Amino acid sequence: MNTLLTTASVPEERGRPILDAATREVIGHAPVHTVGELNAAVSAAAAAQPSWAALGHAERSRLLHAIADDLDAQAEELGEIITREQGKAGGAGEAHGAAHWLRTTADLVLEPQLLQDDGSSRTELHHVPLGVVASIGPWNFPVMIAAWHFAPALRMGNTVVLKPSENTPLSVLALAGILRRHLPEGVLTVVSGDREVGAALAGHPRIAKIVFTGSTATGRRIVESSAGNLARLTLELGGNDAAIVLPGTDVGAVADQLFWAAFMNTGQVCAALKRLYVHDSLYAELVSALAERAEKATMGPGTDKANRLGPVQNPAQFAIVSRLVAEARERGARIVTGGAPAAELGPLFYRPTIIAEVEDDAAVVAEEQFGPVLPVIRYTEVDDAVRRANATEQGLGASVWGADPEEAAAVAQRMEAGTVWVNQHGGVDPGIPFGGTKSSGYGLEFGVEGLKAMAATKIIRR
Ligand code: NAD
Repeated sequence: MNTLLTTASVPEERGRPILDAATREVIGHAPVHTVGELNAAVSAAAAAQPSWAALGHAERSRLLHAIADDLDAQAEELGEIITREQGKAGGAGEAHGAAHWLRTTADLVLEPQLLQDDGSSRTELHHVPLGVVASIGPWNFPVMIAAWHFAPALRMGNTVVLKPSENTPLSVLALAGILRRHLPEGVLTVVSGDREVGAALAGHPRIAKIVFTGSTATGRRIVESSAGNLARLTLELGGNDAAIVLPGTDVGAVADQLFWAAFMNTGQVCAALKRLYVHDSLYAELVSALAERAEKATMGPGTDKANRLGPVQNPAQFAIVSRLVAEARERGARIVTGGAPAAELGPLFYRPTIIAEVEDDAAVVAEEQFGPVLPVIRYTEVDDAVRRANATEQGLGASVWGADPEEAAAVAQRMEAGTVWVNQHGGVDPGIPFGGTKSSGYGLEFGVEGLKAMAATKIIRR
């Protein structure tokens, strides 16, 4: 029996059924909190905030470390909930990843800054808590992204009200069960509800900051909500990351990395590789190398650790993936492999799909697919590839691949994205700032910049 799941779940008559993404069996019931319960959580967070801030950095960091240790100790149990609810193999890896994030965030150093001192006057810049932070998260990495939000917020002396995606509430409620063992009452509360509760949280008058990870469409609504409370925003929104493979690249050396940059977590990654631009001279070879990997990749329920690809997490996303592939096929693109559901594995499995001879205006290229599908697009001139890669509203990540890293880094300078990787794609690190440009959002997470984003600046002049 999974005791974390038992504590996260409520009796059937009081909750909404949450399904195993792979088998579609009910794994538990998530509470559906009301706006009244949300208001109570925000009030409790506001009441707890001054004494949490008064604890100081050293004590808050110590508590983040203690939570990280507990997360590592409970990673198998928490990981099982993540795997079943979200679908990924290796849910425990996500729990360990969250622990790593907590430790690094706890150990970051952000000192007050001396701005000026001329003997007769002195000016210092301090980073002080904002108050209550609202965290609103998606369903692709429910526990990891919750940690991305709450770790810097708590570290800086804020309290947090966290609303997980309605698709993956149980893993975050289970995480909250671990947090409760370490944190004073009210310091972090999970409110499990639908979009209406999310909207009420974003617009709540006592919220000082909203950190949101999710789609660009919802990000826009959150900006509107924040007109009322003037909450500061960190918006990590959708991505449609392009990669450019330069002429002369060793296809054998990069094919694996390119494949997993696109298909990790079954493509349900904000900064997954979603459009691959390949030079004409390498095109045929790389398309077949990717198709070979797609055909070999093991797919099935994440509870079997041999499976590296799982289901699409929810029916709405499955419908998007199916539509984008169907549209590409209708317009004459070549479905090299995949292109159909893997119904024998379960209703939400979709075969890893490589699409070739596809144009920029195909929906599968122009829109974020967020699933196990990669369009491979041919180019002949590097300048043209850069222009086409940049011709999108999104600007989360991008990558450039080539035999000469200096040449690739020079092309990377011309890519419009918050992070541009060279000969790699999608890696994030708790010490290195991460954030989007254009419609992929604004504000930074991670590293010292991420701490600053969870604080107000205060100038002391004397
Ligand atoms: P979503 O926007 O549908 O939902 C995200 C969250 O917002 C959910 O908790 C939802 O209940 C809540 N919500 C919905 N309407 C709201 C409103 N009006 N006000 C406040 N909250 C509201 O996104 P999703 O489908 O869960 O996640 C997938 C998207 O997230 C993809 O576009 C992906 O690229 C993006 N994403 C981005 C990053 C990043 O770091 N940039 C990371 C992961 C996912």
